[in-house]
Amino acid sequence: MGEVEGQVRSEELDAEREARRQLALAQVRQYPDPVLRLKANDVEEIDDSVTGLVERMKGLMTEARGVGLAAPQLGILRRVLVYQAGEEEPFMALVNPRVVETGGEQIADDEGCLSLGAATVIVEVERPSTIVVEATSPDGEELRIEAEGLEARVIQHELDHLDGVLIIDRTSPEQRREALAKLRPQPVLGPT
Ligand SMILES: [Zn+2]
Repeated sequence: MGEVEGQVRSEELDAEREARRQLALAQVRQYPDPVLRLKANDVEEIDDSVTGLVERMKGLMTEARGVGLAAPQLGILRRVLVYQAGEEEPFMALVNPRVVETGGEQIADDEGCLSLGAATVIVEVERPSTIVVEATSPDGEELRIEAEGLEARVIQHELDHLDGVLIIDRTSPEQRREALAKLRPQPVLGPT
């Protein structure tokens, strides 16, 4: 397993997996898509559309080699997120997640985002090291998750997506500037 940085797992991929990764990434909305800035709505009722969405998100996250994905990244403004904080960790899907408490220390660490050019942009983000979240599972069960380490970081990253917040909003002005420069479309220089 490669190094995990926020939402992105960086590792050498063979050509076929890389092609699948690119296909999955093509379905993930990219900055500056305005939908990434909107607040998602609560899910009123868990029906087939929600379970179908979770399955699609799980597939895309896995193919894109991400460790987390939120519905707005697919252009769907519903409060649904998925994550898997490591290959040995369980796949998790949270509907209408809400923060009960955050704690521990503020820890700064590198994060990437599938909506910010996947591994193109890595910035340092400071977050509380522990979080308690309540949510509903896609089966309609009530969940309470006490997370720390990478899991706590991934959950907070995905929760931000549900509120239209991106890692470039949470990093230093210098890193934000560098990230935006990388994301700007490069001019194509033709013959003069
Ligand atoms: Zn992200």
